[in-house]
Amino acid sequence: MKRLCFGTFATILKICMAKRVTQKRLCGTILLSIAPDYDIRSDDGTVSDLILGKKNLSPYVTDVAPTADARAASNYFKQNILPLLDSNKKSLIVLALKDMIASDDTIEPDTVVEKVNDMTKKNIAGRDAFVLEDFLAGIFLYTAVNVENRNCEENVKKITDEYIQSFEAQKTNISFLTAYSRFSTETADEIAIDTHSLVLLAETGGKCQKCGRLLGIKKEGNDVNYAKVVHLSETDDVVLCVDCEREMRNASEEEKSALLSDKHDLENLMAARDATSRYALEKQVEYVLREVQLMDVTDDTRLKIEPVKVERKITEKRLKERVLFDVRQLYEGVNNALDRLSGENKLNVDRFAKSVKRMYEDASEKLTSQSDIYNLLADTLFEKTSRKYREACKIIISYFVQRCEVFDEIAE
Ligand SMILES: [Zn+2]
Repeated sequence: MKRLCFGTFATILKICMAKRVTQKRLCGTILLSIAPDYDIRSDDGTVSDLILGKKNLSPYVTDVAPTADARAASNYFKQNILPLLDSNKKSLIVLALKDMIASDDTIEPDTVVEKVNDMTKKNIAGRDAFVLEDFLAGIFLYTAVNVENRNCEENVKKITDEYIQSFEAQKTNISFLTAYSRFSTETADEIAIDTHSLVLLAETGGKCQKCGRLLGIKKEGNDVNYAKVVHLSETDDVVLCVDCEREMRNASEEEKSALLSDKHDLENLMAARDATSRYALEKQVEYVLREVQLMDVTDDTRLKIEPVKVERKITEKRLKERVLFDVRQLYEGVNNALDRLSGENKLNVDRFAKSVKRMYEDASEKLTSQSDIYNLLADTLFEKTSRKYREACKIIISYFVQRCEVFDEIAE
């Protein structure tokens, strides 16, 4: 465990100060921020005792600290303390302070540790972007008001060069702001929750992941159809409607893991989509279709003429979502590419459609699961078109599901 006190705070700054600066100048200047008449910048002994955690801050400092103007202290830090620090080590300072605060179990999660913006231990742990002068002044005020600095030698000894250097790899995680947005941290938390729900809702197409009911973000007067985020595991949240959320409270492990695996499929689908823009996908579809002419095509299969809705052909919920998504996004794109290639005499669309139909019939003799059949068709197309764009192959198969070469209508 690490502990936050003036000694450990000042030691972190000392390790990260600019070359020409001395520890007594640094420490003395910090204290002048709230006690302008208390100048120990030439008092080696006192400075050393304070930094080593051997004695308490003087009453000149601790008496005024509880009522000090925190905003003014931050301005002072900006003018007078930041120039004393090595500008390459600002992120290390923040990372070390964050780590120290997080590991100090004498501080409660809701305790305000940064006194300029009233940030709690929990707020600090959740942030990666800071106003440096606020952060340092706010924490300094905490050490002056809330903790004894006497008997802290053992804690100070843990703050070594190696400890500071251990954060080197995380430096890029920290960014600096000139001001925090005018939102309170509560508002920011609420927005973060809404954003999280939105990300989950985007994955499910705006629906309850379990029953498929359309969902919104919770607002006044909207008491059933809003998205409830449910934690399934350490790292996985799903979005459900209120009813399904209630059901899940008593769900078996089996039901939970089914929901979880469903969720992973959705994530994979999103990731695949994000990785490739729609424009790029259309190009890839066209590329795959140009390769199609090389496929072995036989032409003894009659095509259905009337398209039947995907809805009525696919029983597996997730596959249906996927195919509907493709069809909505890219049906026109595939159709246009087919027209274009046919116009250029690069592809006989009818023959291609028939060969897809035949592939489907072969596949459905061997396989029963619709997603297995779908994947086999996409894989076969992928194999036969120089193995370049798997995602485009899936989209083309989805197109043929909509056009009815793939999957028969389910009898009602
Ligand atoms: Zn539901």
